[in-house]
Amino acid sequence: MRSNGFGRGGFLGAIGIVASIALLAFAPGALAGTGGAPTPTSAPPPPGSASGAPSAAPSAGALSLAGAETKPRKSFYFGVRYPRLTYTLASNQPQNDIRIDVVNASGEIVRTFYREDVAPNVPYNLRWDATTGEGKPARNGRYSFRISPQTPAAPAARKASTTAALSLAFTLYGYTFPILGAHDYGGAMGRFGAPRSGHTHQGQDVMASCGTPLVAARGGLVQYSRYDDAGGNYVVIDGKGTPNDFVYMHLAEPSPLKEGETVRTGQPIGIVGDTGDAQGCHLHFEIWGSPGWYEGGSPFDPLLELQKWDRYS
Ligand SMILES: [Zn+2]
Repeated sequence: MRSNGFGRGGFLGAIGIVASIALLAFAPGALAGTGGAPTPTSAPPPPGSASGAPSAAPSAGALSLAGAETKPRKSFYFGVRYPRLTYTLASNQPQNDIRIDVVNASGEIVRTFYREDVAPNVPYNLRWDATTGEGKPARNGRYSFRISPQTPAAPAARKASTTAALSLAFTLYGYTFPILGAHDYGGAMGRFGAPRSGHTHQGQDVMASCGTPLVAARGGLVQYSRYDDAGGNYVVIDGKGTPNDFVYMHLAEPSPLKEGETVRTGQPIGIVGDTGDAQGCHLHFEIWGSPGWYEGGSPFDPLLELQKWDRYS
């Protein structure tokens, strides 16, 4: 905070509470986000914003929001596009110490950002990397950004009503469906555990036309990007923020991903094919528990997960 001539104390504290209420009551009409599927891109996304630290002597004027919106309306953990808040304050002070909370649908704060000396009538951006204050992936659900003054009185106003908390709302998911196109789950032989000669099927087959784009259901580290006679062109991704590995097989062409590369949730990983030991065009998809694919972990049935991602992606 800087000296600004307006001083501090009980008077401003009272204004702070009023301002907080005014900000919470911000109507959702100004929301113009597009949402939808993640935008495939090979460029790494901008990093999440730093948390900042509370001001030692917080001060803010009578605040209101001149404008604010959140984009996109649907985001994915470690995804191509983080939830991004753009906000413009109105204030009778030239510099304002504010906090921006990420609030879940129950009104609980999952992450807080502190900003000092925020000027009125200037647009600011904030990107949330979808991690909690403890650095863990936030859960699936509805969230909202909430802007309020960094005044000592602010904690009393933290517990927002659900309606208010959704005023700059967006939805966050941990995974996206990996096939960008028409698909079906095929028959019994495509199920996890179906008999194969000498072993059982370790994943779920999802039928789709050859050439249909594939994206990473969960981003992370590309552990393998190779070819073998059984899996054809295949990719193994060590999922970020999860102990699980994700395996994609029978790609029509070698994946553009390189081993050791970081891939984002929703980023293109190749196209559906029938390379290797495949009957028709399909994605063979596996999920392996810790410590991972042929590293001592075991595969488990991914069908329920796939169907869940399929519903909201
Ligand atoms: Zn298969």
